[in-house]
Amino acid sequence: MLLREVEYAKPSSVAEALEILASNDGARALAGGQTMINVMKARAASPDALVDLAALESLKGIELAADGTLSIGAMTTYTELAASAEAKARPILGEVCAQIADVQVRNRGTIGGNLCSNDPTNHLPPLMVSTGAQLTIVSQSGERVVSADEFFLGVYLTAVGPGELLTKITLPAGKRDAFAAVTLGVDGTCIASAAASVDGSVRIALGCVDATPVLLRPASADEDAVRDAVRGAGLDPPEDVHASSEYRLHLSEVLAVRAAREASERS
Ligand SMILES: Cc1cc2nc3c(=O)[nH]c(=O)nc-3n(C[C@H](O)[C@H](O)[C@H](O)COP(=O)(O)OP(=O)(O)OC[C@H]3O[C@@H](n4cnc5c(N)ncnc54)[C@H](O)[C@@H]3O)c2cc1C
Repeated sequence: MLLREVEYAKPSSVAEALEILASNDGARALAGGQTMINVMKARAASPDALVDLAALESLKGIELAADGTLSIGAMTTYTELAASAEAKARPILGEVCAQIADVQVRNRGTIGGNLCSNDPTNHLPPLMVSTGAQLTIVSQSGERVVSADEFFLGVYLTAVGPGELLTKITLPAGKRDAFAAVTLGVDGTCIASAAASVDGSVRIALGCVDATPVLLRPASADEDAVRDAVRGAGLDPPEDVHASSEYRLHLSEVLAVRAAREASERS
């Protein structure tokens, strides 16, 4: 389907992008366009103007600090993350990005777009929660930092409000992470997913079972503790053409155990 007529701007600075977003309620950021353009074609969204972030160099790139902290620009693509030497400081990030969809989506799709769209089947929201990422949001009134635990508010809804942009994702150092998913075919959309991090305390984030990733904090990564945590979370997963609610619940338990075990086996 053809897009309806839409204004287009390609600002050359974050300040200019924020000015356009603040002055037009109907303006929306455009990152890789892999979700945005599709929902516009389906008429599920109909912005008046697109603010293309592609020329904003300050939103690109990956920096590794001496203490292992990773700072990732929101416009960094999955392909760049998977290929980055710096990103290997937290290996799970590149490993998961390399599993997303196909090469076209990986070349265009950005970490910022993936998080801001917060599709419950997306790979990266649970991973950001399990790894304890911090997200930097800017507006004309300044900058604020939100933890991944508080960033995801609902389906397609995040802490990024009107007139704001997600600029940076910061991940603490750590290597003992894993991601397990049952997908629709190889590298397909997740039916259920679990991201686990056992660096320090155990954090497991389940995807596809609620509007936002569900964080579990079992006392240990042992199978019984993880199963108890999933069973005690009061989950009521949605059902759809791919899985019943009961099947998703079952998968969540299996995947949480698998992810916790794989994360524990990493050194
Ligand atoms: C065929 C296909 C299969 C896919 N399969 C998967 C999959 O298996 N797993 C998966 O995780 N994803 C999958 N995706 C989604 C893909 O990863 C998208 O790229 C991603 O969800 C959105 O990223 P984007 O950079 O394309 O953002 P866009 O589509 O450009 O934007 C998405 C939303 O985020 C907003 N936005 C983007 N960047 C910012 C920012 N910096 N600040 C504020 N708001 C912003 C936009 O306004 C828009 O509302 C698939 C997509 C396609 C087309």
